[in-house]
Amino acid sequence: MERLQKVIAHSGVASRRHAEQLILDGKVKVNGKIVRELGTKVGPNDDVEVNEVPLVKEVPVYFLHYKERGVISAVSDDKGRKTVTDYFPEVEERIYPIGRLDYDTSGLLLLTNDGEFANLLMHPRNEVEKVYVAKIKGILFRENVRKLERGIKLEDGMTAPAKMKVLSADKKKNTTIVEITIHEGKNRQVRRMFEAVGHPVIKLKRERYASLDLSGLQPGDSRELTPHEVKQLR
Ligand code: URA
Repeated sequence: MERLQKVIAHSGVASRRHAEQLILDGKVKVNGKIVRELGTKVGPNDDVEVNEVPLVKEVPVYFLHYKERGVISAVSDDKGRKTVTDYFPEVEERIYPIGRLDYDTSGLLLLTNDGEFANLLMHPRNEVEKVYVAKIKGILFRENVRKLERGIKLEDGMTAPAKMKVLSADKKKNTTIVEITIHEGKNRQVRRMFEAVGHPVIKLKRERYASLDLSGLQPGDSRELTPHEVKQLR
């Protein structure tokens, strides 16, 4: 038996907190009866409805995907562009990406149908470490490296300290390749951080997410996470 709000969050229809609100608001039925009691326990044979829609009980699945550039991190796109779920035609579960990478960013993206797992990883308190490699315009000097390390003022606030490693610089082409490690997930954060110090990003790739990397995968490839990897991320 599991707590009702957990079952709802697991199904992906709402975060745990939102699920609690739905219960308090009388929007949740168990076996046809409205339940307003937080913490009500339900088992696999109970029928749960949220806003009159039955929860579909799916086995949770977890994928690591190497997103290509030019793909939307969403389940569908109103402009008809390719989305990351188009890479999983054989998967019947309703998977969706955990967070997002920009259309032009490549790299590591997780997908799941486990709403609670997704909420957990995206919660700012859990600040998963993400490593990006960026090709930026111009030669990045130490002063700007320090600024990025300390934190940059963006329009939605200061960024937390970042780890920086300059991998190479091409004076002829006037570009630098940098590895940057951040824990937050503000919208277009890496691009905005470099822009803020006068170095627009030309190319961006996410190399690592927590302890996971892209080993053995080509752009567009995916693999399932192992149970051990899922456990480590929880
Ligand atoms: N930061 C960005 O600017 N873009 C991404 O896709 C991810 C992080």
